[in-house]
Amino acid sequence: MEKKAIVVGAGLVGSLWSIFLAQRGYKVDIYERRSDMRKEGFVGGRSINLAMSTRGWKALEKAGIAEEIKADAIAMDGRMMHAVNGETTFQPYGKEGQAIYSVSRGGLNLALINIADKHPLVNFHFDHKVSKVDKKSGSLQVTSEGITSTADASLIFGTDGAFSSVRASLQRTPRFDYQQDYLDHGYKELEIPAGPNGSFLIEKNALHIWPRGHFMLIALPNSSGSFTCTLFLPFEGPQSFEQLKTNDAIQTFFETYFADALALIPDLVKDFHENPTSTLVTIRCNPWVYKDKICLLGDSSHAIVPFYGQGMNSGFEDCTVLDEMLSEFDEDWTKTLSAFNETRIPDANAIADLALRNFIEMRDLVGDEDFLLRKKIAAWLHDKYPDRFIPLYSQVTFTHIPYSKALAEGRRQDQLFEKILAIENIHQDWKTEKVIQVFEAWEKEN
Ligand SMILES: Cc1cc2nc3c(=O)[nH]c(=O)nc-3n(C[C@H](O)[C@H](O)[C@H](O)COP(=O)(O)OP(=O)(O)OC[C@H]3O[C@@H](n4cnc5c(N)ncnc54)[C@H](O)[C@@H]3O)c2cc1C
Repeated sequence: MEKKAIVVGAGLVGSLWSIFLAQRGYKVDIYERRSDMRKEGFVGGRSINLAMSTRGWKALEKAGIAEEIKADAIAMDGRMMHAVNGETTFQPYGKEGQAIYSVSRGGLNLALINIADKHPLVNFHFDHKVSKVDKKSGSLQVTSEGITSTADASLIFGTDGAFSSVRASLQRTPRFDYQQDYLDHGYKELEIPAGPNGSFLIEKNALHIWPRGHFMLIALPNSSGSFTCTLFLPFEGPQSFEQLKTNDAIQTFFETYFADALALIPDLVKDFHENPTSTLVTIRCNPWVYKDKICLLGDSSHAIVPFYGQGMNSGFEDCTVLDEMLSEFDEDWTKTLSAFNETRIPDANAIADLALRNFIEMRDLVGDEDFLLRKKIAAWLHDKYPDRFIPLYSQVTFTHIPYSKALAEGRRQDQLFEKILAIENIHQDWKTEKVIQVFEAWEKEN
C-alpha cells in the first residue's frame, strides 16, 4: 500500500515534520493557508526571532539542516540585565560553551520549506485553507481561490498552530478536553536598529532583559546587527497598554523605565502605534490523536507563553519523539500514536507550567538578590557535581530530560534552596562546607 500523509500547516513544525515523513518514504501533501513565502516574502505576524536550544537542534540535525541554520544564528551565552539606572549585569545561562541561539523565524521557516520541497515525495499546496476534517473518513475540506474541494489520506497531521482547525474538528469528539488561558499581559515588538556597518549597539551575545516587576522589555540579536525588542505589559492597569495611547505617554513611559533602551530605539513612537499588540495564550488539550489516523503536533496541541523560549523547541521535540516511537513500534501507527499521546501530554503540560513560572522569574526575580545568589550557588554545585546536580534551567534548555521530570526535579530544587538560603550569613559566604552538607542531606532525602 502506498504510504501517504497529509500535513495541515507549513509553519515551523509542519515543514519539519514533512521532512521526517518523506525520509520514511511517505508521500506528503502539505496544505498551507498562506501564500508561498518564497514568492510573497515572510508574513509572520509573530516574533521576528526565536531562541533555539538543544531540543530544537536535535530535530534539525535529524532533518539534516542544523548546520545551515547555525551558520546564521547568534549565540546568547546568558542574560544581560538592565537596571533602571542603566547598570548592566550578566548571568550565564549554563556552563562555558552552553548557549541558546537567536534564529530568524522567517529564515528558519524558509529553509525548512526549501529542504522539504527538494524531496520528490513532498508536495506543497500554498493558499489552501483547511476548514474541516472528517475524522472517520479521513477527508479534509480545503478552500483555495474560493473553491472548496476535499482531500483524503489515511494519515493526517494537524500542525496548523494555536487556532488549529484540525483540533477544532477533534473537539467535537466526546470527552475531548480543551483548555485555553490568556495572560493579562500582551506584547509588542520594537526595534533597535544596527549601528554603523551592521555593528551591534549593545552586547551581541546575550538575551537582554529590562525586568520591571509586573512588566518587562527583552531584546534578542539579529544577524543584521539589529535587535528585536519585545515589550510585555498588562493590557489594563496603572502601567499598561491602555495607558500608552499618546506619543507623550509612550515617550514618558520609556524615559521612566527603559531610558537606556529608549536612546537606541529611534522609531519608538511610530513603531509603537504601527505594530500590533498581541495576546499570549496557553492551550492544552487531550487527546492529541484519533485512532491510527490523526495526530496534532506543535502549537495546535500545546501552545505556551514564550518565557522559556520552548514553544518551537517543544514542537520540534514532538517530531523527534514521534519519529523515535515510529522506529520502536515498526511504524504501527495505532501503537505509536497511543504511546505518543500518553508520554507527550504530561511533558507538554509541564513545559506550559514552566513557561508561566519563568515569566515571574524574568520580570521579577532576575533583579532579586536571593534569586541571583541561588543562581550562583546552583552553578557552583553543577560545576562540582555535574551528574548529581543539574539546575532546572539547564535541564530544560541543554538536555533532553523529559519536561515533566525536569519540572518535578525543579520543585525538589526549590526545597533545597529554601534550606540553603536560610543558612546564616549565606549572602556573605556561600562556597562553604555547610552548603555542601545541606546539599548532601537533600540528595539523600530524594
Ligand atoms: C512572542 C513570541 C515569542 C516566541 N519565542 C519563542 C522562542 O524564543 N523559542 C521557541 O522555541 N518558541 C518561541 N515561540 C513559540 C513559537 O513561535 C511556536 O511554538 C511555533 O511557532 C509553533 O510552530 P507551529 O508550526 O506549531 O505553529 P505556527 O508557527 O503557528 O504555524 C502554523 C502554520 O499553519 C498555518 N495554518 C493555520 N491554520 C491553517 C488552516 N486552517 N489551513 C492551512 N494552514 C493553516 C499557518 O498559516 C502557519 O503557517 C514564541 C512565540 C511568541 C508568540
